[in-house]
Amino acid sequence: MKHDYPLAFQELANLLKTLPGIGKRSAERMVFSMLKWPPEKLALLGTSVSELHERVTLCPECGNLSSDGAPCGICMNNSRDKTLICVVEDASQIYNIENSGLFKGVYHVIGGKLSPLEGKGIKDIHIQSLVKRIDANAVKEVILAFSSDVEGQATSIYIGEELKRKNVSVTRLAHGLPAGSDISYADSATIAAALHGRRPL
Ligand SMILES: [Zn+2]
Repeated sequence: MKHDYPLAFQELANLLKTLPGIGKRSAERMVFSMLKWPPEKLALLGTSVSELHERVTLCPECGNLSSDGAPCGICMNNSRDKTLICVVEDASQIYNIENSGLFKGVYHVIGGKLSPLEGKGIKDIHIQSLVKRIDANAVKEVILAFSSDVEGQATSIYIGEELKRKNVSVTRLAHGLPAGSDISYADSATIAAALHGRRPL
């Protein structure tokens, strides 16, 4: 006969299981491990989780992750070129591009891709704030760093059209990235090649 875990154990394991890369068995092992933690460590995990939204905020300028409502380190850095904006789908991609160490401009998190099937339309992406930044900072180039799947391409085309009237060059990453792949998973050398070989939209 199957022996179930206690209810609280199961509840925690079910939550952990929803994290990327965590299967049922891993989640259960994590709970077994946590049961051996001292109460202070468990309390610390509890507060870290419950205060996550309060302490990790979005940069009011670019939408990158930041702390306590302040602009992010990239926007605060005066040596970054504010006239060069790399548009990414999600903040997680910024970290990967930064690891390549080659990009000296700033970012703009657009917050998703256009996807009619998932009900994601123009109102769901942050394009107005991008247009405002282009005007405010006399931006010269906008690099679109979307994945090369259908939604990524559609989003690139839409943004390209929207920026047509602006005096700004719109480029996209070279196709060093495998079709349908996400920049989040590309290595530094691939990102460097994609940035270096970028071309007009
Ligand atoms: Zn920022």
